[in-house]
Amino acid sequence: MNERFLRELAARSLAALLGTVAVSYGLEMTSAAAPSFGKNIQLDNGRVVSAEEIQKGNLGNVYVNMETGVAVNRLEGPYLVIDKPEGKNYKVSLEDLYMERSLKISILGLEDRSFSREGLYTGSKNDSCLKKAGLVYDYEPDSSSYTAVYEAVLDRVYAYQVYEDEKAIYIELWEPSELYSRILVVDAGHGGNDIGTYSLDMKYYEKDINLNIVKYLKKLLDKERIKVYYTRLEDEKIYLNPRIDLANELKADLFVSVHCNSSDTAEARGCEVLYGTKNQKNLAFSSKDLAEICLNAMVKGSNLPNRGLVKGNDIYIIGKAKIPAALVETGFLTNEKDLEYLIEEKNQKEMAEYIYQGIMEAFSKQEENY
Ligand SMILES: [Zn+2]
Repeated sequence: MNERFLRELAARSLAALLGTVAVSYGLEMTSAAAPSFGKNIQLDNGRVVSAEEIQKGNLGNVYVNMETGVAVNRLEGPYLVIDKPEGKNYKVSLEDLYMERSLKISILGLEDRSFSREGLYTGSKNDSCLKKAGLVYDYEPDSSSYTAVYEAVLDRVYAYQVYEDEKAIYIELWEPSELYSRILVVDAGHGGNDIGTYSLDMKYYEKDINLNIVKYLKKLLDKERIKVYYTRLEDEKIYLNPRIDLANELKADLFVSVHCNSSDTAEARGCEVLYGTKNQKNLAFSSKDLAEICLNAMVKGSNLPNRGLVKGNDIYIIGKAKIPAALVETGFLTNEKDLEYLIEEKNQKEMAEYIYQGIMEAFSKQEENY
């Protein structure tokens, strides 16, 4: 097995996970590929060696990937280093707070508070990737153990690979597009005190319907080999800039923002999809292509009227997109029939399914164009 393949493999198993969900590495993992200090270790050229052989130092530096259990001789920079008591193994858990450009690194099952704030540093010459770091300890009374929780504020969004050797834990920082072949940003419109539009009786808010649809969408996307970043999965206020900035910074393959519509005339109803034409010149697959596919999928599935595509360069989110971005308007909360459709859980699930189909088709079409 080559190194690149193993990286992909490790990345893939992370792909379904979200920023707010911790990813665990280390001793308690049950998979055959559990990290293997103290056991035989497979090198990236396929050779299996014993821990003693590694300790003798004949093989040079050996870093074991804490997820795949495979060792490499060299780390790709930039990376973070966390010093640990020599020879000890720990369970490590990562929480990617990508909206904050920060990473929480938890080291679990400690007997004492032997990790220090200074123990976290950058292992590469260019240390501008780490802007700020902190350390707090949690105490677990049940197991009378400590968890060291580092928070590292980084200069941008990264994807991660975790390695260890005898002396330290290493977190490689990757450009996400180098680790993941499909990157998607899903944006549930509005949130928190920004309720979006609402039904005429004020009983239903757009922000809630958007979020429900996105949560159903997530269930479908979790099964796919796609790295998905969600701008929110809770009822929280997020400004417009960070939503599209995330997608642009990630160089996401696709960005889909989910909304409901409104109008002064109660008759207005149906699906429409907005797209921008700025910053699209170099894209073989454009925002308009994505918008078209999403609209067709939504209309075909839901039987809601087709209001067509809307060019919307002055709509902030899509006007600023440098990647293919579509803002889907699922229906009108100000129209009785659309509202009836959109508030039903069954239909929210269906709408998620259609958007999902659109996304999958868009990925295929986009890849054909490469
Ligand atoms: Zn909206």
